[in-house]
Amino acid sequence: ASASDENDVVVIGGGPGGYVAAIKAAQLGLKTTCIEKRGALGGTCLNVGCIPSKALLHSSHMYHEAMHSFASHGVKFSSVEVDLPAMMAQKDKAVSNLTRGIEGLFKKNKVTYVKGYGKFISPSEVSVDTIEGGNTVVKGKNIIIATGSDVKSLPGITIDEKRIVSSTGALALNEVPKKLVVIGAGYIGLEMGSVWARLGSEVTVVEFAADIVPSMDGEIRKQFQRSLEKQKMKFMLKTKVVGVDLSGDGVKLTLEPAAGGEKTILEADVVLVSAGRTPFTAGLGLDKIGVETDKMGRIPVNERFATNIPGVYAIGDVIPGPMLAHKAEEDGVACVEFLAGKHGHVDYDKVPGVVYTHPEVASVGKTEEQVKELGVEYRVGKFPFLANSRAKAIDDAEGIVKILAEKETDKILGVHIMAPNAGELIHEAAMATHDKPIHI
Ligand code: FAD
Repeated sequence: ASASDENDVVVIGGGPGGYVAAIKAAQLGLKTTCIEKRGALGGTCLNVGCIPSKALLHSSHMYHEAMHSFASHGVKFSSVEVDLPAMMAQKDKAVSNLTRGIEGLFKKNKVTYVKGYGKFISPSEVSVDTIEGGNTVVKGKNIIIATGSDVKSLPGITIDEKRIVSSTGALALNEVPKKLVVIGAGYIGLEMGSVWARLGSEVTVVEFAADIVPSMDGEIRKQFQRSLEKQKMKFMLKTKVVGVDLSGDGVKLTLEPAAGGEKTILEADVVLVSAGRTPFTAGLGLDKIGVETDKMGRIPVNERFATNIPGVYAIGDVIPGPMLAHKAEEDGVACVEFLAGKHGHVDYDKVPGVVYTHPEVASVGKTEEQVKELGVEYRVGKFPFLANSRAKAIDDAEGIVKILAEKETDKILGVHIMAPNAGELIHEAAMATHDKPIHI
C-alpha cells in the first residue's frame, strides 16, 4: 500500500475481529488493507491467548489422564513423564501454522497486509511505522479500529514475564513451578492454573472478590470451585495482594483480607497476574481525531459499530461487551456487512462463553441471578452427569446441566453446563435460546 492507494476499508489490528473483518470486506468486493504491528496475524487469541492456552490445556490434560485415569481403564504404562520443551513445541507449532494460514487467506482474498504500528493522522488516513523501519500512509474511506486488549496490570506489581508473569508468560514457562500463585480467579487464571496444577505445581488462587468467575451462574460456580479444589487448587477469596518482595529466589506476596486486617505472607516461585484485560488504544492517536473513549478506555459504538467520528468504526475487545474471540469475529462480519450496504446482525444475548478446564464450564444467556433481577417468573431444570449413561460409561461424570426457562412459555432464558465437553454442547443450547422472552 502507498499513499496513493485509496481503500474502501482499512482495518487496524489483525486479531479475530480485524482479520475476519478484513477477509469478509474483501469477499464483499471492498478494497481492503489490514495493519498489524505484531509481525503475525491472529491477534491475542492466536498468538498469546485462546489457541496456545487450549493447546497446553489439552496436552496437560492428556498427561493428567495418563497419570490418574488410564490405569483404572486397564491401560498401563511403566512410566509417564512430562517433556515440557516438547509440549511447548507442539503449542508453538499450532500457533505458527494458524497465523501463517491467515496470511494465506489474506493473499487468497486479496487483502493488503501492512506490518507495522498504525496511528491516525486524520479520520481517513493512518500513518504506519513499518516493522522493516519505514513509514507509509494508508488511506481509507472507512477505518475500523480492531486493536483489541492487553493484560491489565495491578498497582505495585511489575510483570517481568519470568517470576511475575501475565498469561503470555504463563504460556511459555520453561519449567514447572513448584508453587504458582494466580492473582485473579477469572477464566484465564483458572485455565492457566489448571495447566500448571496438572503438570505438578501447587496452585493457590488469590481473589479480591467473594467468588470465582463473577459472570458465572452462582450454583454452577460453587460446584466448579469444589471441582477445582478436588484437583488440589487452593482458593483464597476476599483477599488482596498488598506487597511483593522479590529479594529472594522466588516471590513473597503480602496478603490482607479484602476488608482489611491481619497480613500474611504467601510464597511462590511464579506469580501469574490475571486480573482482567483492558482495551488497547495506546499510540493510536484517538485524541488527535477526536474518537471518544469511556472511563474504562473502551470505544463506544452504535449498532452499526460507528464511533462518534464519521467513517471510523470499532469492533472486538476494544468496544464494550464480552472480551471473546467469537464475539470479536461476529462484530467484524456485521460491521463490514453494514459498510457493504447489507444487513449485519449480532445477537449479544446469545454469545456463549466457555472455561476450558476439566470439566469445562459453558454458558449462554442469562444466569439465575440475572433472571431473578429481571423479575420474570422462571423455572429451573437440572440434570447431573452422574445420571448420564455415556458419562458413567467413560467414567467422566462430574457435572450438571442447568436450564432456565420462562415459567409461562418455557422459552429458554439461559443454559449452564459443567461437563467434560460442555464447550461443544453449549452450541445446541445457543440455538435453542429464545430471541426475546415474551414477558420481558
Ligand atoms: P486482539 O486479538 O487483541 O487483536 C488486536 C490486534 O491489534 C493485536 O494483534 C495487536 O498487535 C494489534 N494492534 C493493536 N494496536 C495496533 C496498532 N496501533 N497498529 C497495528 N496493530 C495494532 N477468547 C475466546 O473466545 N475463547 C478462549 O478460549 C479465549 N482464551 C483466551 C486465553 C487467554 C490467555 C487470553 C489472553 C485471551 C483469551 N480469549 C479467549 C480472548 C480473546 O483472545 C480475545 O477476545 C480476542 O483476541 C479479541 O480479538 P480482537 O481482534 O478484538 O483483539
